[in-house]
Amino acid sequence: MKIAVLAVQGAFLEHENVMHKLGVQTIQLRKAGDLAEDFDGLILPGGESTVQGKLLRELHMLEPIRDRIENGLPVLATCAGLILLAEQISGDDTVHIGTLPVTVKRNAYGRQLGSFHYAEGNFLGVGIFPMEFIRAPYVTEASQDVKILAQVEGRIVGVQYRNQLAVAFHPELGDDTRIHQYFLENYLS
Ligand code: GLN
Repeated sequence: MKIAVLAVQGAFLEHENVMHKLGVQTIQLRKAGDLAEDFDGLILPGGESTVQGKLLRELHMLEPIRDRIENGLPVLATCAGLILLAEQISGDDTVHIGTLPVTVKRNAYGRQLGSFHYAEGNFLGVGIFPMEFIRAPYVTEASQDVKILAQVEGRIVGVQYRNQLAVAFHPELGDDTRIHQYFLENYLS
């Protein structure tokens, strides 16, 4: 099995490290040509969604990635990755990949709570998972067929829709590999 990690900007190395810990090979997607490589799943890392979206357009990667996701490629998106997938961004007309029927609010916790650690988050199918939020978004609206996997203080921070698993926090930053394992077990086997 091989997992491709979008590597144009942001925290892609951390995701690769988790995959390597789990004994899974990774490749980096840095240019359109890399999409011709053989891979079974995709990770969209955290970072800055505006920069990532701009680079994906300039590198002609946005549409091929959208097509692959629409055709069933399993994808794990974290933080900025969730924003890239969202069909709508609150207060903004920009849509990047737009395959996930949710509305997200960017930098949604205000200045004081820009970054925080939430130790007691419950993730459906995984259990209590330590959640690291960094200038994170949350989901303000989700279509009925989107499954809510995690909420923190009433705000949706983890969702699943068909082949797409998206979280507002950073499961790649701690030592806990269970969300990545959950992705591999439920989406790739
Ligand atoms: N604030 C970033 C954005 O809007 C997301 C932050 C992150 O990925 N940690 O894209």
